[in-house]
Amino acid sequence: MRIDAVSIFPEFFDVLDLSLIGKAQRDGLLELRRHQLRDFTTDRHRTVDDTPTGGGAGMVMKPEPWALALENVLAAPSPAERPVLIIPTPAGDVFTQRTAEELAAREHLVFAAGRYEGIDQRVTDWAQEHFDVLPLSIGDYVLNGGEAAIIVMVEAITRLLPGVLGNPESLDEESHADGLLEYPVYTKPAVWRGHEVPEILLSGNHAKIDEHRRQEQLLRTRRIRPDLYAKHIVAQEEAARRAD
Ligand code: SAM
Repeated sequence: MRIDAVSIFPEFFDVLDLSLIGKAQRDGLLELRRHQLRDFTTDRHRTVDDTPTGGGAGMVMKPEPWALALENVLAAPSPAERPVLIIPTPAGDVFTQRTAEELAAREHLVFAAGRYEGIDQRVTDWAQEHFDVLPLSIGDYVLNGGEAAIIVMVEAITRLLPGVLGNPESLDEESHADGLLEYPVYTKPAVWRGHEVPEILLSGNHAKIDEHRRQEQLLRTRRIRPDLYAKHIVAQEEAARRAD
């Protein structure tokens, strides 16, 4: 997979050189290219922002440096016919595990990190000529810039690529893999500071352990995320109806 990330703080993405994503780059599973947006300005001060048209607080990112930066990305050979352009914004569709799965199947992702009050809307409109454009939010809160959101999305997407995780089976059992939260996990010792692990986990009876974990998953999801639990029940009812 190829990823291009454009930002006025490209050094933000250095954290992606650590741990498993860093190793994925060194192993050639992922090519992560970073671009400084200011390299695509034409004035002495390398200006990327201007006042909002129509008035209001803050500054807005000018469209032309973005078009030049994205054209520069397009000028390099791409592994995909049509790359995906992801524009992080609190006003986008919410990024979920499903989104991560869909994006992990694409060959070339381009991320555009907004700052200030965001990027001139016309960049989103213009970019549709060249990219599949996805404005995405990582949650209902506001960050100072898109870089942290990009790091979250890149980590969630790239850990799904074949060969990135040491044990790919762990993906199947994780929270959100099947629409439910994961069951609580434990390690040794069996008793720690007076707290015991559930006895069934020490039994060696794998069928019983699976059943216990499934119950824990359902109880935990119903308590912490009733929205996910309700969706799960509806999906199960639909599957049962289809099987009849
Ligand atoms: N004025 C914008 C609004 O109210 O929607 C917020 C701009 S925010 C201060 C600056 C940048 O941070 C955004 O352009 C976006 O790139 C990023 N950002 C902030 N919150 C985000 C979120 N929840 N998800 C994804 N990106 C976010």
